[in-house]
Amino acid sequence: MGMTKAVGILGGTFDPVHNGHLRSALECLQQFDFDHVRLIPSARPPHRTQPQATPEQRMMMLHLAIKNSQQFIVDDRELKREGASYTIDTLKSLKAEFPETALYLILGTDALNLLLTWHQWQQLLDFCHIIVMQRAGAPLTLSDEMTSWYQAHLAKPEDKSLLAGSVWPVTLTQLTISATTIRSDVTLGQPPTFLTPDPVVSFIEQLKLYQ
Ligand code: ATP
Repeated sequence: MGMTKAVGILGGTFDPVHNGHLRSALECLQQFDFDHVRLIPSARPPHRTQPQATPEQRMMMLHLAIKNSQQFIVDDRELKREGASYTIDTLKSLKAEFPETALYLILGTDALNLLLTWHQWQQLLDFCHIIVMQRAGAPLTLSDEMTSWYQAHLAKPEDKSLLAGSVWPVTLTQLTISATTIRSDVTLGQPPTFLTPDPVVSFIEQLKLYQ
């Protein structure tokens, strides 16, 4: 498929998806003029406790959240794969699908701080650019090794013409919403109204998720 505009990639557990994900993805799309952002739920995240909602429920909430939007695509490739969900494998598979398209992996600073633990993290930039979103309450705490990697790949404006290889720090509208707080609010009987789109609030209520 020939696509000239770049594509953004936001992976996560999405347990549940919330406006912090959606607004950040939208602002990246606007700043980088993406064709679309792919929201990619991970099946078995290797680095954290397993999600409470099933993969199907997390997918359903993503679809409910982005309904009618041309700018987002829910991508289930990690759910179809066996074994742990490694981002490097996702990037290789996307690159095979979109060989001529610049890919931008969108990460919050909390995720970047853990990048060192990711499978083959040093190869990620062979397949994509990385956008680092400043996330409220998560200052960068990089090791020396990561700091040199970060500085060595820091983007110059002309790198926008490259398909991959640069790190792009951005500061977006700060929304201190996390899925963890939503889950504990719901457990306490407080629906996540206005923190996630209404259809997701209703879905959580109907299926009695996170109770
Ligand atoms: P949890 O609280 O369960 O850890 P989360 O809210 O952090 O979940 P994830 O699905 O783990 O959501 O996050 C996926 C990606 O979205 C990560 O790169 C994370 O940094 C980013 N992200 C999550 N919430 C926000 C937010 N409010 N603002 C900006 N980025 C966010």
